[in-house]
Amino acid sequence: MGFRQPRIELKNNAQMRTMHEAGLVLSRALDAAVAAAVPGVTTKHLDDVFAAVLNEAGAKSNFLGYHGFPATVCTSVNEEVVHGIPGSRVLQDGDIISIDGGAIVDGWHSDSARTVIVGTADPEDQRLSDVTRAAMWRGIAALATGTHVGDIGAAIDDYVSSVPGKPLGILEDYVGHGIGSEMHMAPDVLNYRTTHRGPRIKPGLCLAIEPMLVRGGIETAVLEDDWTVVTTDGKRSCQWEHSVAVHEKGIWVLSAPDGGAEDLVPLGVTPVPIP
Ligand code: MG
Ligand code: MG
Repeated sequence: MGFRQPRIELKNNAQMRTMHEAGLVLSRALDAAVAAAVPGVTTKHLDDVFAAVLNEAGAKSNFLGYHGFPATVCTSVNEEVVHGIPGSRVLQDGDIISIDGGAIVDGWHSDSARTVIVGTADPEDQRLSDVTRAAMWRGIAALATGTHVGDIGAAIDDYVSSVPGKPLGILEDYVGHGIGSEMHMAPDVLNYRTTHRGPRIKPGLCLAIEPMLVRGGIETAVLEDDWTVVTTDGKRSCQWEHSVAVHEKGIWVLSAPDGGAEDLVPLGVTPVPIP
């Protein structure tokens, strides 16, 4: 007896171009939220800044109301890993915060996250963010050069374990995902190497690639608000994410204005606009 794999939604070029429109609005909204992340502001302020860009563009939020989530971004500070709820918390000098948001245009979704260090960065936090961001780009490059979705996690894992210095942990409780007519779809995109190669990479596949790394152990817990995920050892964590499309001519990062060229070309991958 076997289990049928959930169907993977493959997008046509027009649908992927609309997802890119959603990704461009999202990128601008993240630009604004990142610029606003300075000591003394509340995490709610970042949500307001982000939401204003979506509203002005006529885009909808896919976070607001998602299983009851009350905001347009997740703001996860320090030991908070993901799904932090914006509120009255005031950002302090040296905080490390991930801002994760999404946008919908004409029914098509995008999802992207960036990490910011507020004010003065602890060098170990800066290293955590730099390695997580670089790991994300290795994963995205593997989508272009690989044959199976499992190649993404393998590339992220190999890169993170090759970085000299104190080892960083790769979270396993939360993973990337397919994206399209919904925010979270099949397949899962693991951030670590397994014996499972995963589904084949083919044109029309759109994935959110989002490594989450920690300075300590990878065990997590959910706070009483039923959303905020924290590391159980209280060590700091980090997340970077982009939504990426595979089409018949190559890959294109949907949530980056340049399709990811600046970070992919040095890795030997030239992104190609969706035809
Ligand atoms: Mg996200
Ligand atoms: Mg995501």
